[in-house]
Amino acid sequence: MTRMLLLGKMGQVGWELQRSLQPLGKVIAVGREQADLSDLAGLRTLLRETKPKVIVNAAAYTAVDLAETERELAMLINGEAPAVLAAEAARLGALLVHYSTDYVFDGRSERAYLEEDVAMPINYYGASKLAGEAAIRASGARHLILRTSWVYGTRGNNFFRTMLRIAREQEELRVVADQFGAPTSARLIAEATAAVLAQTLRREFEFGVYHLTASGATSWHGFAQAIVEGARARLAAASFKTQRISLITTADYPLPAARPANSRLNCEKITRQFGLELPGWEAGLALCLDELAVAQGN
Ligand code: NDP
Repeated sequence: MTRMLLLGKMGQVGWELQRSLQPLGKVIAVGREQADLSDLAGLRTLLRETKPKVIVNAAAYTAVDLAETERELAMLINGEAPAVLAAEAARLGALLVHYSTDYVFDGRSERAYLEEDVAMPINYYGASKLAGEAAIRASGARHLILRTSWVYGTRGNNFFRTMLRIAREQEELRVVADQFGAPTSARLIAEATAAVLAQTLRREFEFGVYHLTASGATSWHGFAQAIVEGARARLAAASFKTQRISLITTADYPLPAARPANSRLNCEKITRQFGLELPGWEAGLALCLDELAVAQGN
């Protein structure tokens, strides 16, 4: 039976992976308490003791704005810990599956980014994630680096949940309309990861970087509109106060970390190599809202 070590089990993606990895083997799922990625020696020991055949790293420092000030910690978790995972994966002959981000790009391209496009992060979180990618690539370990974007789900900290909350509180939502990307549910990422992994356990594959997002693209404003409309249709409509969702620009909403204007990732490579059909972002949102509605008895 394939032994799989899953790091970051309580995160959005990690939580979903706990379920989707089940049919592939024995999953040893750990959270921060069992494996703190800022403790590199402890991480090394854990890997040597558990001896997994597959390491899936869903843990990361994801506080994009805070990373501008907590640079060392962000680099330790996103840059150095993946280097340790990769070195241990190489020793064990294990496969390392790791996640990265659209924020490795500067967002100035006119088209969706390809895996081989030059990465040029415009914030420190992106720089720390890029350092993690580089360390993994340099390690010689068999690896899959899955770059995704705009992750959301029914639990955790994400835009989807924030919009649902503030739509109940405020008459007007002001949402950035000049950044474009593909909202991608944590569940889609986990299920696509499992589908890819199932193939890598049976056949040779080209390791490296793959883009993995839902299909299509929208702005944060478009996403907010779809969330609120979809929620009104399924959940208690009267509980939503919002009357207007106004378009604002990035400049109208200054944040400590700069964001790329274009976060679109071209996913043809993963489709080609692994035969994945990536559904439109709207389909993922509908499923997520349906799940909430069922949970709330609507
Ligand atoms: P979350 O923020 O939901 O989860 C990250 C997890 O990492 C949390 O459970 C967190 O634990 C854990 N973690 C943080 N620091 C440490 C540490 N020192 N030791 C151990 N665990 C730690 O992230 P997502 O699920 O959204 O992200 C999954 C991957 O996708 C990451 O690699 C991320 O960079 C990438 N990604 C995410 C995007 C997004 O929009 N969220 C966009 C693009 C890529 P705790 O709960 O205790 O803090």
